[in-house]
Amino acid sequence: MVNPTQGVIAVIVAGGLATRMASATAAVPKVLLAIAGKSVLEHQLQQFRAAGITRVIVLAGHLAGAIELAAARASDRSFHVEVRTEAQAMGSGGCLRQLHDLNGPAVVVFGDVMFDVDLGALLETHTRQRATITAVVHPNTHPHDSDLVDVDADHRVTALHPKPHPPGSRLRNLVTAGLFVIEPAFIEQIPSVLEAPKLDLVQDLITAALARGQRVQAWQTSAYLHDMGTPQRYAQAQAAWAQGIPARRRRPRATVFVDRDGTLNRHVGYLRRPEQLELLPGVAQAIARLNQLDVQVVVVTNQPVLARGELDEAGLAQIHAELETQLGRAGAYVDRIYHCPHHPDAGFEGERPELKCACACRKPRTGMIDAATSDLHVDRAASVLIGDTERDLDAALNAGLRPVLVSANAHALAVARGVQWFPDLARACLALFPNPQPNPQPNPS
Ligand SMILES: [Zn+2]
Repeated sequence: MVNPTQGVIAVIVAGGLATRMASATAAVPKVLLAIAGKSVLEHQLQQFRAAGITRVIVLAGHLAGAIELAAARASDRSFHVEVRTEAQAMGSGGCLRQLHDLNGPAVVVFGDVMFDVDLGALLETHTRQRATITAVVHPNTHPHDSDLVDVDADHRVTALHPKPHPPGSRLRNLVTAGLFVIEPAFIEQIPSVLEAPKLDLVQDLITAALARGQRVQAWQTSAYLHDMGTPQRYAQAQAAWAQGIPARRRRPRATVFVDRDGTLNRHVGYLRRPEQLELLPGVAQAIARLNQLDVQVVVVTNQPVLARGELDEAGLAQIHAELETQLGRAGAYVDRIYHCPHHPDAGFEGERPELKCACACRKPRTGMIDAATSDLHVDRAASVLIGDTERDLDAALNAGLRPVLVSANAHALAVARGVQWFPDLARACLALFPNPQPNPQPNPS
């Protein structure tokens, strides 16, 4: 098998002025800020070296001299770090013009991003999908202050929503995370300095690539990626490194699987319009707390309204965008949402025959949980499924997860089946994850 990082160059975009970090970076470029005793640059170089990349180009501007010293210290015979300094500020996109000699894919990272990512897997996916640019994306705690994308079922980016978003926007929480793979064809399209001196990689160049119909792909990951755009986020990165969170993200994690209707949001019969979605009290705060504890949160929901033809995929996407927007306002996010569109009973007017089947994903079957386990690092023995019906309970048992029931409606069922019960999701999460330990108490065995 070919090593996916063979011959690949890594690029660090380190030229931007640290306008929002004025106090912390009065004398230091952002890429030289310290995390756990090492500069961000050193952390980034360590990631590239570990992935088998041997050549790095740092695009500098702000206080380039200090960066040149650090680059010289990091270089040796098998690992070469070169600094290219721009004469004028050209923005995160405009500075890429300095990569005129690129002859293969390059991994590009912003100088204020801490990451611990499987770069080989990223490059392999980028190449397989024949993308002109692949953007690493993830949900974050501040989607309102982030550039967001829409993707189709093949992870192709269909739209970009640059920050700031118009009031009342209803958008999925899929944020470009400051890590990309680009092809030379992407560089060749950048307008000249005379046409547009300053260009933003995401807002200007990806927007232009989408308009040209070039293939822009999104690579969604639950690996550690954290921007330090504000002093608060810099402090969060320091805390995360001190707690060992980046390395832990590479291993199976405690995961809270949650049902949607009746558990996250008020049950309204069949939810068909985003305006009907109302989070239950305390839900957003409970999920924000799980996010802070670094517990993964995955929604698993049966949506037979699709099979019945009462709602299409675009309509469901709008409902889930509303869900993520409401959570985002509280600084909360879910890692993934899986839905089952099927229903086993055929014979209704307007139904979609292709979705009328006995599938493997409809709860109490485990298909959605199995998909999450394959897409994410899930430690099933440390994980729970929280829901309000017998289907949720049985799905948990079938998947080897601890079942937890919530809501007054499920109380009798919980008693009858001898299952843990709480009045609502918020109280369940507090009881199951009572302290800063991210893992719940293991089941006695
Ligand atoms: Zn299904």
